[in-house]
Amino acid sequence: MLADYHVHTPYCGHAKGKIIQYIESAIQFGFQEIGFADHLGRYYLSQTQKKRYWDWGMNERDIFRYISELSDLKEIYADQIAIKTGLEIDYIEGAEELLLRILDQVSLDFSICSIHCLPRFSWEHLSDYKGKNTIPVYKEYFHQARSAVKSGLFSSLGHLDYIWRYIAFPEEKHDELVDEINNTINAALQNQTCLEVNANGYLWSRANKNNRYNLFEIFLELISKNHAPITIGSDAHDPSMVGKSFPNLIKMLYKNNISSMYCFSEGKAQLQQIG
Ligand SMILES: [Zn+2]
Ligand SMILES: [Zn+2]
Repeated sequence: MLADYHVHTPYCGHAKGKIIQYIESAIQFGFQEIGFADHLGRYYLSQTQKKRYWDWGMNERDIFRYISELSDLKEIYADQIAIKTGLEIDYIEGAEELLLRILDQVSLDFSICSIHCLPRFSWEHLSDYKGKNTIPVYKEYFHQARSAVKSGLFSSLGHLDYIWRYIAFPEEKHDELVDEINNTINAALQNQTCLEVNANGYLWSRANKNNRYNLFEIFLELISKNHAPITIGSDAHDPSMVGKSFPNLIKMLYKNNISSMYCFSEGKAQLQQIG
């Protein structure tokens, strides 16, 4: 089975192309499933905050259009590829009720939770973090990630590697970071939430080989050691990026004895052989 379970659409306002181009691209690659997981808007911000901060998600009123468009395409492409409807949702501790109000109104195949901002530090995107003291930020990031999987609201924890792509961690504290990753993988396992293996994280690790530690490799080793469940996603914001570097990524998964992943239908997880 080849499936890409993290694909964006123009609904979020910062992804290129048309939805059908993403689908065509997945078909061309020989994928059997494509899972759209576009950004839900920033449901946790007040009206005033919404004016002040960038919303990387779709407009609230577009969510139903997004879902109905995907449901039409599911039928149109039924004999070529299975299209799955998902969302990439910012997890914000304490805003679960607000999220549930939205989730109650939509029917999804799967959902990804991602930590893109840490309100204790800033409402800005993590990539804009300017502070020098990175350890408390890391601690908070992994705390939020564990809290997200414990909420039981999500199918998969998105790109856990996100933080080290943007904020460097002091190398002398390496062991502490490995513990944080390991504890988060265990929390996901205990709460039956998948860990997402994100192709952008893989590519970042290839491009930043000078680092003494390959954190992406460590992440995969720990997934393997704990027998934790995974999903795989490209995080494509451009049709040409669907399934990007999957052949190499899959080789790396196999090298780590990871040979199965989860796919989803109406919230139900199905274990599938990768490749
Ligand atoms: Zn994301
Ligand atoms: Zn994404």
